[in-house]
Amino acid sequence: MNDPFAARRPSYQAELARGVERFLEPRRDTCPWCGSTDLSIRLRTCDLIQRKPGRFTLEQCGACRHIFQNPRLTPAGLGFYYRDFYDGLGEEMTEKVFNAAGRSYRGRSTMLKPFARPTAWLDVGAGHGHFCQHARKVWPDTVFDGLDQSVSVDQAQLRGWIDHSYRGEFVALADELAGRYDVVSMHHYLEHTREPLDELDAAAKILPAGSHLLIELPDPESSFGRVLGRWWMPWFQPQHQHMIPVHNLVRALADRGFSAVAIERGAAHQGGELFFSLALALIAAAPDPRLPWLTTEPTRWRRLRHTLVWAVGRPLLVIPYLLDELLSHLMRRTRGGNAYRVLARKDG
Ligand SMILES: [Zn+2]
Repeated sequence: MNDPFAARRPSYQAELARGVERFLEPRRDTCPWCGSTDLSIRLRTCDLIQRKPGRFTLEQCGACRHIFQNPRLTPAGLGFYYRDFYDGLGEEMTEKVFNAAGRSYRGRSTMLKPFARPTAWLDVGAGHGHFCQHARKVWPDTVFDGLDQSVSVDQAQLRGWIDHSYRGEFVALADELAGRYDVVSMHHYLEHTREPLDELDAAAKILPAGSHLLIELPDPESSFGRVLGRWWMPWFQPQHQHMIPVHNLVRALADRGFSAVAIERGAAHQGGELFFSLALALIAAAPDPRLPWLTTEPTRWRRLRHTLVWAVGRPLLVIPYLLDELLSHLMRRTRGGNAYRVLARKDG
């Protein structure tokens, strides 16, 4: 069968027939960051990007403001919802998004400049290696290695975008990595992990005194998260397990012997707030009927509706795109962006 959508349909439908509730763990009644029981619901939503079936809830801790998926997905559930996102059917689309993030890659690379000249840099959650490829231009003498659970990181090594790839879990590989690097970066990585504090423990374990840890995360305190609600792209359900306020991250780093030497809020803004909101609404109005996990068949009417909605909607996307450019201009000069960066030094 040549059509990759149709070819995947039987296996997805067989999985869905068993229900998606089995992909969720029991709900927890304590905050995974601070242990408080003062929890309230922040957002109820669904998979607005891929449109795979399932309902997801983000809860917020009243004590520390941490936001997390509750109940959270099991490892099998994560496997189900990640499938065909960064690879397979979704690879082409995510590649476009990664290629469009040049400004972010530059900002991350140069943040270290006032503080250190890196010798060996490990990017955790390196994906296809886009960040390292850009960072090499800023730091041509630095060795860049990448770690990821996906085969993408091996492809990055084959392309020459990274020098060496590690395939696996950062926490499990920490012993092997200890003492090898003077910079570790985690860009839009921690929010995807099940236990972000364990990841920080691992970073503290492998980095020697005087080395640096660079972390970029979506900013759950962005006012757009409140204004746009479930249509705010960075909620990114069901992939994002944790949305970490910057003050929580800085304190957790201090607990592990790191001092924050620079924090960027507006400067880390990624843009696209209104563009992605409208795109998600268009996807909701007319998802691609060929998607193999939709429970409905790709009838002629659904194909026609998809064609018509996108024929009208795609040109309209230019309006939020232009507004985003204006907004980004303002937000990069304030503290109100949709992402933040923390650069921390390991104390001696
Ligand atoms: Zn808490």
